[in-house]
Amino acid sequence: MKKVQRRAFSVLIIIVCLMGGIGYFTFRFFSEGTKWVNFTANRHVYNNGVIIDGAIYDRDGNALLDTVEGKRKYSDSESVRCATMHVIGDKKSNVATSLQKVYADRLVGFNIITGMFSTTVAGNKIYTTLDSEVSSAAYEQLKGKKGAICVFNYRTGEVLCLVSTPTYDPENPPVINSDDDNYDGVFINRCISSRFTPGSVYKTVTAAAAIDCIPDIDSQTFNCEKVMTVNGQKIVCSGTHREENFRYALRNSCNVAFGEISMQLGWDITAEYARKLGITTGHSISGIPTVKGKIASSGGINELAWTGIGQNTDEVTPYSMMRYMGIIANGGICAEPYIVEKITTGSGIPLNVDKQTDTTRILSQSTAEKLSDMMRFNVTDNYRDKNFPAGMEVCAKTGTAELDGGKKSHAWFVGFSRNEKYPYAFAVFVQNGGGGGAVARPIASKVLEAVKNKVDSDAAKNSEE
Ligand SMILES: [Zn+2]
Repeated sequence: MKKVQRRAFSVLIIIVCLMGGIGYFTFRFFSEGTKWVNFTANRHVYNNGVIIDGAIYDRDGNALLDTVEGKRKYSDSESVRCATMHVIGDKKSNVATSLQKVYADRLVGFNIITGMFSTTVAGNKIYTTLDSEVSSAAYEQLKGKKGAICVFNYRTGEVLCLVSTPTYDPENPPVINSDDDNYDGVFINRCISSRFTPGSVYKTVTAAAAIDCIPDIDSQTFNCEKVMTVNGQKIVCSGTHREENFRYALRNSCNVAFGEISMQLGWDITAEYARKLGITTGHSISGIPTVKGKIASSGGINELAWTGIGQNTDEVTPYSMMRYMGIIANGGICAEPYIVEKITTGSGIPLNVDKQTDTTRILSQSTAEKLSDMMRFNVTDNYRDKNFPAGMEVCAKTGTAELDGGKKSHAWFVGFSRNEKYPYAFAVFVQNGGGGGAVARPIASKVLEAVKNKVDSDAAKNSEE
């Protein structure tokens, strides 16, 4: 009898192990199956590292990537190919954050239940919110430079462009030597995967905290004598602005005033607003991840002053600045930026897409409106409306981020159009480009012109129909 019991027990153990194994495999299949398919050595999906099915379109239905007789074919325009290379991905899957990489399973039509190719004839079709004309215009401005330009619709969240340079033509890839500075970081999308010192564009973050947390900010007067000594360290301003109020402090981009404001705010509020406004958090653009920015949250009082000015050890992504500009423009509500509009099978049957349509209140409406007014004043009183496309009511802030070691400053220009017809926010960044007002501002103006032309021509087409 004992023998039978022992045998029954052994069988039970075997059954438990078997069930456990099946359970574990099922769990791994559902949790990791997509990753297995995307594994670059999977020859059903890749051919020498190249995805061999599916298509990706811009917002007007122009193919940015297609599959013709088992081969990848990019846009007919070289400028568009270079402009969208980082988002679409090259033929060798070098860009980790590209749609080809992140959406590999959905491009070939992989389905975890039915397996690959089951419902599709010629791979799936991904329709994006990208605009070829705006992306191309942005690329032409950054050609020969290193930088990033991001534009999105702050009402809907549609991303029009995420252009990063250096880039190259994925249809005719160059030979890239690892020590060639012209191609430094070429596989990285500088919009979302790199962090840079923001300089004075960061004063818009400090200003939001000041409006919320310093009750008498509007009645305060700052006195800039070019240099202020804090903790034995010098805070130096670009000018000698004398007496100025909060509004003029932003208009003048005064380091002395913003150093004082930062010290009034303290480390805790400084860190809280960096997080709350999405500067030090990571984001997902339809599943494409962005890196987090880095803002110091402790140290000496002089470091606190420099942190609120956008210097010290501050680093932000161009994308996070664009997203923040959208929050201000949209009355304090973030329409989360997204890039994938819809996915269909090769024969056009819509597939389920987790389209991001999140809207979250980040700032109060009154704070957003006050900031918007201050940034509008920057343009009307300083950068000048005549330097931008007519009627766009641009609200903006320049940044010239100083760097250690005698390196040339980073040039920034961030903002948005307040005209209801053109609800777009942007960030323009030129790495070691020099002055924000001199270098990044005219680039932003050209990109806004492309946005305006596109919106106007779409409106004209729609009224004809
Ligand atoms: Zn000053």
